[in-house]
Parts: sequence; C-alpha cells; structure tokens
Amino acid sequence: MKEGIFGGTFDPPHIGHLIAAESARESLGLDRIRFIPAAVPPHKRRPDITSGEKRLEMVRLAIQGNPAFIADERELRRKGTSYTIETIRELREELPGIEFTLLIGMDNLQEFRLWKEPEKIRTLAEVVALSRPGAVALGVVENGRGFRVVTIPLIEVSSSAIRRLVREGRSIRYLVPQEVEEMIMREGLYVHSPI
Ligand code: ATP
Repeated sequence: MKEGIFGGTFDPPHIGHLIAAESARESLGLDRIRFIPAAVPPHKRRPDITSGEKRLEMVRLAIQGNPAFIADERELRRKGTSYTIETIRELREELPGIEFTLLIGMDNLQEFRLWKEPEKIRTLAEVVALSRPGAVALGVVENGRGFRVVTIPLIEVSSSAIRRLVREGRSIRYLVPQEVEEMIMREGLYVHSPI
C-alpha cells in the first residue's frame, strides 16, 4: 500500500490542489492521497488565516466523491506549529505497512532544507516535487541527493488568487469545487482578506 501525503494551508483548497494530487497519484501509482491541513504553517504565517475547522471542512467538501482522497485532521488537532517530521513519524507508527511519499510543490521545495529535520524526513518518506507553474527548479539537488520530480498539468490557480478574487467581488466559479464555492459564499470567507 502506497500513500501520498499532501500538506498545505488549503485556505481555500482549489482545483490546482485536486489536479496535482490526482496527477501525482496516477504517475506515482499511489493508492491514496492524504490531505493534511496545517495548523500553523511554520514558513507561512498569515494573521487572517481561516480557522482550522473551516479549512478542514472545505478540504472535505473538495475531495468528496474521490475514494482515493482522504482528509486528515491530525495537524489541526495537534495545534501549535505543524511540523511535517512529526506528522510522518506519527503516520509511520500508526500505519506500519504503508509506504509514504511526501508530495511538495516545486515552490515549497526550495524551502525544504529550512524545514525541521529535512534529512530525517527523507529517511521516513520519499519526497517528490510537483512541478508547478512559475516555480523555478532551484534547489532540486540537496546534499547531492536529487528529488524525484513529477510533472503535473499547469494550473494557474492559487489560494491567494482566489482570496483576492473574492475580496474584489469577482467569480471563483470552476476554480474551486462548487461545494467549496458555496461554503465560501455562505460563510462570507475572504471578503475582507488582505491577500
Ligand atoms: P497561497 O496562494 O496562499 O500561497 P497555495 O495555492 O500555494 O496557497 P497551499 O495550501 O499553500 O496553496 O498549497 C499546498 C500545496 O499545494 C503546496 O505544496 C503547493 O505548492 C501546492 N499547490 C498549490 N497550488 C498548486 C497548483 N496550482 N498546482 C500545483 N500544486 C499546487
């Protein structure tokens, strides 16, 4: 059994996330993709971040209907700063038969060496870079060890672009699943978002 770990802020989840996860699942022959919303993303603090509860609900709405996608709330439950090394250690303990692949966007890969215990992470899971629009393939080789890169369709959408569109009163139709769009509208999310 092979499982991909896909972490992020997911504020909100969008079709770029879904297409990236599905494409990586297929290319890497993964049985499941585990979406893990971060509690406090260490390298990405925003004061106005949507509550973990709501981001988790949006992730659930976004992935519903795909049996290979699961939402995992452990980082939200753990609270405090979310460190991937802790998440992977926990998962390995809970699910000993599973081989884990950590999926990270090419843009985030450039910061991977700043994460907590990056080399330890690489002993517990394979780290695979997802090539993303606009990302430069810098830092792909760390300490002489390359990362496997998976090419995914280029989808020019980001959570920040969606927040900006909502704030400007513009359409986000088709950029997020319909249920996510409905929740954003119902809850009035991002209307006053600074970014
Ligand atoms: P923001 O715009 O707020 O920075 P984001 O759209 O990058 O957010 P995150 O939740 O930070 O969303 O992303 C989670 C993971 O998904 C990251 O590894 C990121 O690189 C990847 N990702 C985000 N958008 C895309 C996309 N359009 N295509 C491929 N991967 C993506």
